[in-house]
Amino acid sequence: MAHEAPTPALYLSGVTISFDGFKALNNLSIAIEPGELRTIIGPNGAGKSTMMDVITGKTKPDSGDIFFRDHDLTQLDEATIASLGIGRKFQKPTCIESLTVFENLELALAGPRSVFKALFHRLSSEQKDRIHELLALIGLVDLIHTEGKQLSHGQKQWLEIGMLLAQSPEILLVDEPVAGMTPHEVEKTAELLTSLAGEHSVVVVEHDMAFVRAIAQKKVTVLHQGSVLAEGSMDAIQSNPSVIEVYLGEEAI
Ligand code: ADP
Ligand code: MG
Repeated sequence: MAHEAPTPALYLSGVTISFDGFKALNNLSIAIEPGELRTIIGPNGAGKSTMMDVITGKTKPDSGDIFFRDHDLTQLDEATIASLGIGRKFQKPTCIESLTVFENLELALAGPRSVFKALFHRLSSEQKDRIHELLALIGLVDLIHTEGKQLSHGQKQWLEIGMLLAQSPEILLVDEPVAGMTPHEVEKTAELLTSLAGEHSVVVVEHDMAFVRAIAQKKVTVLHQGSVLAEGSMDAIQSNPSVIEVYLGEEAI
């Protein structure tokens, strides 16, 4: 009996957006399966961040559809899209420097409530358990009482991933997570993102090819000039002549 393809968790179809006549996304179609970890690579200016902007509602495409469950995301605003279960991690850290790791997670768990209410509200034992679970997942148990400003760059990035997870997103979008990390931090980030797949669909945009190789699962997508140039296994991508020409070039791969 033939298996039906699963319904994608996220589906972009023919998405186009121009800035001053330049097509940052050009008829882009992409489908992410539930629980998939998809890596997106491509040269600078290929449209990777713009793709995340149109998914999260930061920018509206000129044409095309973006579906998440039964929702056409092109019709919804940024806050609604986030509340439906699409979390985005930006490159720039947004944890609060003067609060501890625990407090930052506590705030994230409270969601869009006031800081005052969130911090002076007594946590239920379920909420405490959830924070401890998140701490274990992001590997910051030992730094529970450390202030944001004392964390290394990598630790801040993991805290932010924990803060995103506190909102229980179904889909996580992560833009260049390992920029500026030490090799050891890169390795830990690869483990963390890999561990999140399955329960979440994770879309990772990254330049660092060693990292991409470490996390690449079934499919890697190569974007070029706002469209998909190639999609397939890491091995297939690395030996694809057009990918080598536009992106990988002479880089040792
Ligand atoms: P990538 O993340 O792949 O490096 P981007 O998605 O950031 O690429 O950018 C794709 C192209 O779209 C670039 O040429 C960029 O200058 C342009 N672009 C992106 N956002 C805007 C914007 N808000 N206004 C004008 N041009 C933009
Ligand atoms: Mg970018």
